[in-house]
Amino acid sequence: MSRPLPPYDLVVIGGGPAGLAAALAADEARAHVLLIERDRILGGILNQCIHDGFGLHRFGSALSGPEYAERFIAPLRKSKISVMQSAIVLGLRRGAEHEVLVSTRGRLSRIEAKTVVLATGCRERTRGALSIPGHRPSGVYTAGAAQNFVNMENIMPGRRVCILGSGDIGLIMARRMTLEGAKVEAVFELLPWSSGLPRNIRQCLVDYDIPLFLSTTVVDIVGMGRLEGVKVAQVDERRQPIAGTERFVPCDTLLLSVGLIPENELAREAGIALSPVTGGPLVDENCMTSAPGIFSCGNALHVHDLVDRVSEEAERAGRAAARRAMGKSSPDGVTVALRPGEGVRYVMPDHISMPAPGSGPVDDGGLTLALRVNVPSRDGVLRITAGDRVLKEEKHARLHPAEMVWTGLSEAELSGLGESGQNTLEVRVL
Ligand SMILES: Cc1cc2nc3c(=O)[nH]c(=O)nc-3n(C[C@H](O)[C@H](O)[C@H](O)COP(=O)(O)OP(=O)(O)OC[C@H]3O[C@@H](n4cnc5c(N)ncnc54)[C@H](O)[C@@H]3O)c2cc1C
Repeated sequence: MSRPLPPYDLVVIGGGPAGLAAALAADEARAHVLLIERDRILGGILNQCIHDGFGLHRFGSALSGPEYAERFIAPLRKSKISVMQSAIVLGLRRGAEHEVLVSTRGRLSRIEAKTVVLATGCRERTRGALSIPGHRPSGVYTAGAAQNFVNMENIMPGRRVCILGSGDIGLIMARRMTLEGAKVEAVFELLPWSSGLPRNIRQCLVDYDIPLFLSTTVVDIVGMGRLEGVKVAQVDERRQPIAGTERFVPCDTLLLSVGLIPENELAREAGIALSPVTGGPLVDENCMTSAPGIFSCGNALHVHDLVDRVSEEAERAGRAAARRAMGKSSPDGVTVALRPGEGVRYVMPDHISMPAPGSGPVDDGGLTLALRVNVPSRDGVLRITAGDRVLKEEKHARLHPAEMVWTGLSEAELSGLGESGQNTLEVRVL
């Protein structure tokens, strides 16, 4: 291995939408940035998402995944950002200057970085994680793998399809397989509600007459060489199969859309504290992890439903990393913890650092919060409190576990926090 390359202000790991936005924001703040992507092309998961619906919030138009990515790749090509493609980061060692170990076509190099942004995305849960009994035939794929076959490799994984899990990727693949001439028998969902966005239920299932069976799961996989069918059953409130409700559905393909897990091997190796709920790092308001100078954003931090929010969050991480690398961060003040209260599964960030008295405003002006609720509800109210003080109440016509809620607190609403025992913020659904 050669001598380490001279330190960059920021090394961004991952060239998907999160990595691209973080790198551009840091470059705009005049940091010296290197972006590393293991694939031969930039854009991450967006490259295989040829459907539209990306960028509605940010650009006001429904772009395809590659079109959305291009809105970031084009300015990146004109910027001073250095880019390594077909280069995989194998190791991350934290220190006064962090060390990034990269393999490029079999050649290892060490790169020093004042700050690092982890933007490595997420991976899909597989059959192994579900422990479905039955045979081990071919024809069982994750929905994302099938999407890659169809959209990138021009290969049809099968002709008669069942889908387990109603996450967005499964819904989008139900439509995609239908458009490619396959018969999609049904989507089965363990929960009593869908885990996909409502617009995807309408546009991908209802419009194509594909039935969705809630509170139903696959209890057996049948077939020795190739999949011949699945046995499904209804489940009770404890999500256990109800005896006597089993039925056999013939199919040659089963697609699994049963959850995504942040890709965090590098964070774990660097000893970064991870959340047991999201699987991503515990971060502050600037997306900084428990390792000073190492940031995380996008699906590596928590699984997002809209890419527009990924870009926004990543820009915050990129700006904060640049400020830190160039010695421009505000000095740390009192730490205030954020906690999910009743009805809330998790809140992002995990904690915030209030600026030291007299050191100026909160770094990025105000505070952005992202959260997910536990169960669907109508006309719910989100309440944010610090001790007895109510900082904010917000009405929501619809709250749903599949839809991330974004809210914020202004400088005024944050004022006084950290003083007089107000060291914990709680967010709950009333
Ligand atoms: C099927 C599907 C449909 C979707 N539909 C929509 C939609 O309609 N609208 C919408 O707004 N959003 C949609 N999304 C969500 C959106 O695509 C994601 O939220 C977004 O792509 C996440 O961005 P990311 O950069 O965090 O992760 P990714 O896009 O996964 O990028 C991570 C990148 O990191 C690289 N990487 C990982 N590990 C390493 C390493 N060790 N070294 C170097 N590089 C590494 C990967 O190769 C990858 O390029 C969809 C997602 C999927 C999967």
